[in-house]
Amino acid sequence: MKCSICSKKIEQTFLNKVVGAIIKIKGKNQYICPGCQKKLKTKEEIIKNIK
Ligand SMILES: [Zn+2]
Repeated sequence: MKCSICSKKIEQTFLNKVVGAIIKIKGKNQYICPGCQKKLKTKEEIIKNIK
């Protein structure tokens, strides 16, 4: 899976846990990489930047 903001590939651990954040927007899961998470501190900022 890819980051919803920068399209960078998001790593998964062996337990299929995503390295980064998952937020649900309009019933769809959006994946946010740790880099974007650091840049965009609030959920509002993240939502604004999702393509
Ligand atoms: Zn990203």
